[in-house]
Amino acid sequence: MTTASAAPAASTTGEITILSPHDGTPVGTLACASEDEIRAAVASARTAARDWALTSPEERGSILRAAADALAGHAAELAELNTRETGKLPAEALGGVRAGVGTLHQYAELGPVHRGHSLRGSALAADWTVAEPRGVVAALTPWNDPVAVAAGLLGAAIVTGNTVVHKPSERCPHTGARLGEILAGVLPEGVLVTVTGGPEAGRVLTSLAGIDMFAHVGSTATGKAIARAAVETGAHVIRENGGNDALVIDDDVDPAWAAEQAAIGAFTNAGQICTSVERVYVHRGIAEPFLEALTAQARTRNGDPALLAPLVDRRLRETVHEHVSEALAHGATALEGGQVPDGPGSAYPATVLRDCTDGMVVMREETFGPVAPVRVVDSFEEGLRLAAGDRYGLAASVLTGSIAHAQQAVAELGVGTLKVNNVFGGAPGGAAQPRRDSGAGFGYGPELLDEMTQVKVVHVEMPAAPR
Ligand code: NAD
Repeated sequence: MTTASAAPAASTTGEITILSPHDGTPVGTLACASEDEIRAAVASARTAARDWALTSPEERGSILRAAADALAGHAAELAELNTRETGKLPAEALGGVRAGVGTLHQYAELGPVHRGHSLRGSALAADWTVAEPRGVVAALTPWNDPVAVAAGLLGAAIVTGNTVVHKPSERCPHTGARLGEILAGVLPEGVLVTVTGGPEAGRVLTSLAGIDMFAHVGSTATGKAIARAAVETGAHVIRENGGNDALVIDDDVDPAWAAEQAAIGAFTNAGQICTSVERVYVHRGIAEPFLEALTAQARTRNGDPALLAPLVDRRLRETVHEHVSEALAHGATALEGGQVPDGPGSAYPATVLRDCTDGMVVMREETFGPVAPVRVVDSFEEGLRLAAGDRYGLAASVLTGSIAHAQQAVAELGVGTLKVNNVFGGAPGGAAQPRRDSGAGFGYGPELLDEMTQVKVVHVEMPAAPR
């Protein structure tokens, strides 16, 4: 556990050792928080909650701005740690930390102007809403963009007057602990407490009374477990979970450009992004030149380690390869990649699979690796229909020159985020609720301030005159 004043505590309940995804050498070992330490972390956040809630929003914003500046001052150090721990390419790791700094700054500005409504009842009464902090927020975050994702939840919670117990992923405990030290060093004692540990620590944290909200970004299975725990404790939950994002490609677009888009979507951060392209439906009219160009894109990445990050660890590599092997066993063909490389570390090649069908695991489940499984379809409408028939509802992309087809995609794809002609397109502040197995509630944007608060309606009128 780290607080503004304490170093990571020793623990008797085990430790986490991280091996480099690049070459398998040890990166470091950290002790996991014991149950008592987790309880103490919650108690410390609970103790700080009252004063922090009473601190003016302007003051909270100003302190959060100072925390963002402290993070900016350690950007290179944190990015380097993240690269060593999770394998993220250096430029993308630095981009992630800078995105985190930007998000903290945004919330520092938005928090103080987060406002309620006045309501019109009787002319002699006054009615208005007050957005109050929920209290103590447990933030449980993943490893794939650890600083940017955590900064969003932490910033929105803190600026609205909550205190936070943060449990970073066990796959990036050093990055998570250092982030906690940097931010907590600027915040009042107990406003942000970081606990180190794996799923067990998360289970303990989400079983405790005295936590008012669980903010989880991570896998669907974990999100469901946390939602079940919340039924018992009464905590409010938001879950930003996994996706199986489809890319549907029309026959009127340039196949080389479509391949570039598919490659960016499927191979960036080795496919370890929640909104990675997980499956591709391409119109038969351009399928062959598209597949050829996509294979070339994959080959270029496989020829240069500076272009393709390794997977975070061998556990994930096993899952990715299982998905690919199952597809190959059921009739798919690997045009590029598809084999586990020799040597240390957890690299996996950019892989293009053709002749995929929707029964294959690689098309049905989130693979979270650098894999582009492709199914050829006879029409854009068929692609949309197949894209829509999925248990996840995070995001989807379409590439088309037709406004009618783009509108059809908007109407028919039941996802939180739809991107037309840019797989990672989106304006700042864009936030949506994920659907079905991809989660619930807003995890980003100005709407996250609403999630972090609860609304009270106040009605005031004159006492009766003496009779
Ligand atoms: P994860 O759910 O395994 O881990 C996230 C956090 O939850 C970690 O701190 C972990 O220790 C904790 N946890 C694990 N089991 C728990 C339990 N039973 N109870 C309480 N806490 C528990 O997710 P991950 O593997 O670290 O991250 C990858 C996943 O995150 C992918 O599915 C990806 O799509 C998703 N993700 C989603 C978004 C989004 O915005 N939708 C963003 C990033 C990542």
